[in-house]
Amino acid sequence: MKKYLRLILEVLLGLLLAGAIAFGYWSYSGKKHIQHELADATEVRDEAQEEVDKLAQELEEAKEKLAKTEPAAVQMAAMRGSFENGVVLQDYEAFIKSLKGPMTSERQLGLGALRMLSKGAEDPDTVSAFEKALEMAEWSSRLKSICAAQNALVAAGQKVKVLSDCAEAAEKKGHGKKHAHWDYSGEMGPQHWGDEFPTCGNGQKQAPLNIVGPFEKSKDVLTVNYKEGPLKLLNNGHTIQVNVEPGSTLKINKAVYNLLQFHFHRPSEEQIDGKPMAMVAHFVHKSDDGKLAVVGVLLNEGKEHPLIKTLWDKAPRSEGPEVTVAGVKINPQDLLPASLSHYSYEGSLTTPPCTEGVTFYILKTTVDIGKKQVNDFPFKHNARPVQPANGRKISAN
Ligand SMILES: [Zn+2]
Repeated sequence: MKKYLRLILEVLLGLLLAGAIAFGYWSYSGKKHIQHELADATEVRDEAQEEVDKLAQELEEAKEKLAKTEPAAVQMAAMRGSFENGVVLQDYEAFIKSLKGPMTSERQLGLGALRMLSKGAEDPDTVSAFEKALEMAEWSSRLKSICAAQNALVAAGQKVKVLSDCAEAAEKKGHGKKHAHWDYSGEMGPQHWGDEFPTCGNGQKQAPLNIVGPFEKSKDVLTVNYKEGPLKLLNNGHTIQVNVEPGSTLKINKAVYNLLQFHFHRPSEEQIDGKPMAMVAHFVHKSDDGKLAVVGVLLNEGKEHPLIKTLWDKAPRSEGPEVTVAGVKINPQDLLPASLSHYSYEGSLTTPPCTEGVTFYILKTTVDIGKKQVNDFPFKHNARPVQPANGRKISAN
């Protein structure tokens, strides 16, 4: 299920194309009965073509609108709900069949994305829809979309011939660093994230924050119940991330959130009274209805931490796919302090696309990590600067 979600994220959050297609579908859906009438008549080809052109234009507009307004996480939750029963897919297939124009790579890609959302990545028809999209691709104009389709195929375990094209494109853009569309310094540093990811630049509830009083009283009670599980490590080029199998939960009052992963920043992104700590661990949770909650554990220089030792020993030093460490089990809870009293605020992902609607709980109690352990973390500086509060209140308990 987690793999499935990640695939969806790849398509939806990575490039928004599937979203645009679906949005187009939704606009189309509203006019469906009109189009059926058109199809019934025999001498309406021109009008049908106009309709198609209009739809194409709407797709473009929807794409822009989508990029500006809809928080990606909300889109994803809404889309998943409507796609999982397969009805949208059937309708979209029928719609594509009814089109008089040529089958474009975008339509084919939309079909693939919908198939993935409806049936999962392992469905053979999903794979063939993406493969067809790849065959039809116009490389120059749609490279990003095609790369996403191709990456989805790779993730579904398919061998794809065109991998080098995408790798090359990513490399050019990222000055030799694979997949890097953003960085923590230089031309692609935080000041420029907004160029490619609008919310990073114009969002009003961005994270991290400088945590400074006066505080409101937090009414949220946190209950953590993390489970021991296999160690899965990922160096994604921006951080070390530990992926967690389903079953570890955070309760915020009565609402249940599942722990997806935790990862690290050096120094801590959050500041307390203007000062960062040596590092922070972000525990990323998601509720079944798609809400995100991050628990931040501030890491202070002090005595060595055994779990950090295990992680650092096994963590890939350079970017690459997730590795499962054979024979090693960890419990993420070992990195939490005993007390869960916290500072809390509404924020965003602290990395592009900086999606808002993320609730942060920064624990007041810090956890020790050895000085050498701080220095051994493969990323020297991977912290986004603090963001304007814009009137947001920070609560504490
Ligand atoms: Zn983080």
